[in-house]
Amino acid sequence: MSDVVQTHTQDRWAFPLTQRLVSIPGVRPLELRVIEVAELGEHMRRIRLGGNGLEDFTYQPGQDVMLVLSGGERPLSRRYTIRGFDVASKTLELNIVAHGVHGPGANWAAQTLPGDRINGVGPRGKIFVDAEADWHLFLGDESAAPASLHMLESLPAGVPGQAYLEVPSAADELPTTAEGVTWLYRGDVPAIRSTMLVDAMTAAELPEGRGHVYIAGEVQIVSAVLRAALARGLAAEQVSPKAYWGRGKANENNGEPGDRPSAQG
Ligand SMILES: Cc1cc2nc3c(=O)[nH]c(=O)nc-3n(C[C@H](O)[C@H](O)[C@H](O)COP(=O)(O)OP(=O)(O)OC[C@H]3O[C@@H](n4cnc5c(N)ncnc54)[C@H](O)[C@@H]3O)c2cc1C
Repeated sequence: MSDVVQTHTQDRWAFPLTQRLVSIPGVRPLELRVIEVAELGEHMRRIRLGGNGLEDFTYQPGQDVMLVLSGGERPLSRRYTIRGFDVASKTLELNIVAHGVHGPGANWAAQTLPGDRINGVGPRGKIFVDAEADWHLFLGDESAAPASLHMLESLPAGVPGQAYLEVPSAADELPTTAEGVTWLYRGDVPAIRSTMLVDAMTAAELPEGRGHVYIAGEVQIVSAVLRAALARGLAAEQVSPKAYWGRGKANENNGEPGDRPSAQG
C-alpha cells in the first residue's frame, strides 16, 4: 500500500476557457494557480492567485476577474473584485464571502487549496473611480467591501472619500489603509431586510462640489440605496449601481444576478 496521501486533485477546478469568454472586450485569458488561502474573519476568505496572464497585468481598482467554475457547453462563472495586485510577486488578491448558502463560488472559495489550478478572464467591469468627481461615496455589503476599499484606497491624496460598509459584526471588518470607512453591523438581520445602507445614504454628509456615489451588493438593496441617492438630488450619472447577488436566487451562468437594480419601486 502506498503511504502517499492524496489530499486533493490540483486540476479539479481547471475548466477550459471558451472562445466566448476570451472574446469579452478588454479581457485576457488567465490560467491561475492558488498561492494562498486565509481566513479574514468568520465570513470572508482571502485567496491569492498567481499564474499565466498576470506577467504584465493592469487593471483599474473596482474591476474584477471572472473565474470559470464548471465545464461543458455553458460554463458557469463567478466574478470577484480584485482586492489588490502585488506587482513584485505578480499575484492577485480576492476576498470572497463565505455566505453560508450552497453556491459554486462559495464552495470553491471554501474548498480550494494552494496549488489548485483555476482559469478565468480579466480584468472585467466598467465601474471604477470617476476621475472628474470632487468627492466619492461608497456603499455596499460585505461582497462589495473589496471593491469599495480598493477604490477608496486608490483616491489621490486630498480627494474626499468615505465608505459605509454593512457586515454582520465587528469581527467582519476588513483591513484597509484607507480612512473614512464606517462599518455598519446588521447582526442577525438578513441583508435584504436591513435598512442601514439606505439610512446611511439618506443621512450622509455630502461635501461641496459634484461627487460620485458607488453602490454594490444585493440587487434589491442596491435599488433601494440608488433611490435614496437620487432622492438626495444626485443626477443618475453621478451614481454607479451594480448588483452583485440576489437573495434566494443563484446568479446566472455568466456571473450576473438575473435582475438589475432599478430606480423604480
Ligand atoms: C462585478 C461583480 C463583482 C463581485 N465581487 C465580489 C467580491 O469581491 N467578493 C464576493 O464575495 N462576491 C463578489 N461578487 C459576487 C459573486 O460573484 C457571487 O455572486 C457570489 O459569490 C455568490 O456566488 P455563489 O456561486 O456562491 O452563489 P450563487 O450560486 O450565486 O447563489 C446561491 C445562493 O447563495 C445566496 N447568496 C449569494 N451570495 C450571497 C451573499 N453574499 N450573502 C447571502 N447569500 C448569498 C443566493 O441568494 C442563492 O440563494 C461580485 C459579483 C459581481 C457581479
